[in-house]
Amino acid sequence: MSEQRTEISSLGEFGLIEHLTKNIELQNASSVLGVGDDAAVIDHFGKQTVITTDLLIEGVHFDLIYTPLKHLGYKSVIVNLSDVYAMNAVPTQIILSIGISNRFSLEALDEFYEGVYAACSKYGVDLVGGDTTSSQKGFIISVTAIGEVAPDKYVRRSTAQKGDLLCVSGDLGAAYVGLLFLEREKKIFMESPGVQPDLEGESYVIGRLLKPEARKDIIEFFVKAEIVPTSMMDISDGLSSEILHICRQSQLGCVLYEEKIPVSEEMKKAAFKFEIDPTACALSGGEDYELLFTIPPSEYDKLVLKEEISVVGYMTEPDQGAHIITKGGGKHAITAQGWNHLTR
Ligand code: ADP
Ligand code: MG
Repeated sequence: MSEQRTEISSLGEFGLIEHLTKNIELQNASSVLGVGDDAAVIDHFGKQTVITTDLLIEGVHFDLIYTPLKHLGYKSVIVNLSDVYAMNAVPTQIILSIGISNRFSLEALDEFYEGVYAACSKYGVDLVGGDTTSSQKGFIISVTAIGEVAPDKYVRRSTAQKGDLLCVSGDLGAAYVGLLFLEREKKIFMESPGVQPDLEGESYVIGRLLKPEARKDIIEFFVKAEIVPTSMMDISDGLSSEILHICRQSQLGCVLYEEKIPVSEEMKKAAFKFEIDPTACALSGGEDYELLFTIPPSEYDKLVLKEEISVVGYMTEPDQGAHIITKGGGKHAITAQGWNHLTR
């Protein structure tokens, strides 16, 4: 952290906006006009546009006690890009609005924007506008992401077909265990300040929480492998609740195999320290920002070379319901809270 503290009031609103946006170099041909006018102008040249937005409120969605501002800026962008990729679209622009109290210095805001611009640059999106206001208390962040997709190539949640394979990218549950560690250390710190946090060896799970990535690579793989998923969404609230969305909206049932759910060794070890079942973390933990999608079984061969994708089950007739087959061979209905027995 830098020693210097510049009051935001010393710049004024326009000075602040100019300071935050002066280095923007637009990267997308579709960004016709960016920051500086009454509105941005975007031209997608015959493609379709997808738009999504998220509001993040201090104390509700993030805790600045253990969230570095740079990571927060990065994550604020990522969670929106993940929604664009989940439509099988490519994000091109974001709009970022902030509400800040006088608790924040210019230096603090600069750290936040460093993370924002790092995500923009990594994912090739342009920041083309926003709004800046004061808030009485706490930090408020609103991000809108805009993306493009070839006409009618977007992928919805409601179009899975009976017999389709249910697939997920990456591994699940780690962000949730990362959160448990940070919450535990926060509690210890609040009770006895000065005690050094003990997060030794937990960098993977904590990284998954604080610095998530959006699965741009999976969308690019679909293009290369000529796969068009029949349905797709991102996994932000835990696998069970997302699977139930696909089932409900596609009017189908499904079978999910516990043994096929991808979990990392790091997450398993960390979960055991809290005496919770890794499967429960994958089913009910949130903030993984992986993709959940379905493909016809005839496309299975195209997945073989992609380690990052796991087939976890398949779609059934709606009257079969949504079930998980456990490692022990038991069959249980999937519930939005995950399968609670696993935590016992
Ligand atoms: P208006 O009063 O017309 O809404 P503003 O004075 O709020 O315009 O904003 C001026 C320009 O700066 C606009 O292009 C707006 O999109 C952009 N802008 C404002 N706040 C931010 C921000 N926090 N990040 C990026 N761009 C911003
Ligand atoms: Mg304005």
